[in-house]
Amino acid sequence: MAELHSDENQLRPETQVVQEGRPEREPGGPIIGGIAVSTTYRAGGEYIYGRSDNDTWKDLEAVLGALEAGRALVFSSGMSAISATFDLVPPGGVVVAPTAGYMNTFVQLRKLEANNRLCVRWVEIDDLKSVVAALDGAAMLFFESPVNPLLTVADVEGLIREAKRRGVLVAIDNTFATPLRQQPLKLGADVVVHSLTKALSGHSDVVLGTAVTKSDELFEKLLSYRKDSGANAGPFEAWLALRGLRTFPIRFNQAETSAKILVERLAQHPAVERVRYPGFGFMISIEVKGGARAADKACNASRIWSYATSLGGVESLWERRRRHGDEPVEVPENLVRMSVGIEHVEDLWSDLEQALTRSQS
Ligand SMILES: *Cc1c(COP(=O)(O)O)cnc(C)c1O
Repeated sequence: MAELHSDENQLRPETQVVQEGRPEREPGGPIIGGIAVSTTYRAGGEYIYGRSDNDTWKDLEAVLGALEAGRALVFSSGMSAISATFDLVPPGGVVVAPTAGYMNTFVQLRKLEANNRLCVRWVEIDDLKSVVAALDGAAMLFFESPVNPLLTVADVEGLIREAKRRGVLVAIDNTFATPLRQQPLKLGADVVVHSLTKALSGHSDVVLGTAVTKSDELFEKLLSYRKDSGANAGPFEAWLALRGLRTFPIRFNQAETSAKILVERLAQHPAVERVRYPGFGFMISIEVKGGARAADKACNASRIWSYATSLGGVESLWERRRRHGDEPVEVPENLVRMSVGIEHVEDLWSDLEQALTRSQS
């Protein structure tokens, strides 16, 4: 497969997503790579078996690695990439992690703690001092920023610096910021994970994840976790994710432009008590006047926005987060998380306006 790694620092993300992970440029050769479905390979070559080797993964990994400036591994889901990352912690090791954040990460950490696999020191990630105080003797700092679904922003650079100073591994879930707004490996983080289910694939039709690292040692450990635990991706899903990834920057920029317009208008709407927005990206959270009931009413009254979980797709979605029993109690009952899609912003706004107004009756 053609690799553009020698030039990768000069290429911009808009070019990387289109040019990386393509077949060799040769006369008569295809422009698009295939979907590699073979589960086994003839003896004597580099590849052996479908749980460890697949060319469609490699194409997708070439693009992801270029975007995050590291070596990427595709996993069967964002959660399996996160589980692989937690598996880097030695038995009984300490993980410093925030109380608020992606719900299943929180649930998974609590399970690993209950099973004595590791210890968790829970922190408020936007309080740098308290995080630093928890770092001594820890094996890993794991966090996301902006934080789901409160959309608070952590001092990513400061956290990485303080953790590295103490020899603590840093792993960051970059699903919300995306490599267009934040490249943690360049700031010194050790591992970046993504749910590819979200904006990178962008069409709400695959569940996949990735872990990216610059360290050869960590790469080998993550690779062996994927192979041995069977957290590998299906080739069809990998191919669909790659197809979606080709248009990621234009989708992201459109959604972000619309999000900024909607944030300003939402702040003026009488049914909205509070708007949370980190200043970039396609995610907005609002608190609806009238509690959980009014928030649910708004979500059910929309015709363009779908009342559904997940995010980062071309279609706009919103949901009241506390409808999930495992959502941390720090999240207000009336908080509605919004994932802005790429529909026309005026259509998105008129639908929101009528749904929010109806929520108050
Ligand atoms: C969706 C999501 C995950 C989990 O990814 P899956 O692909 O659903 O397993 C992890 N972190 C964040 C921030 C997410 O939004």
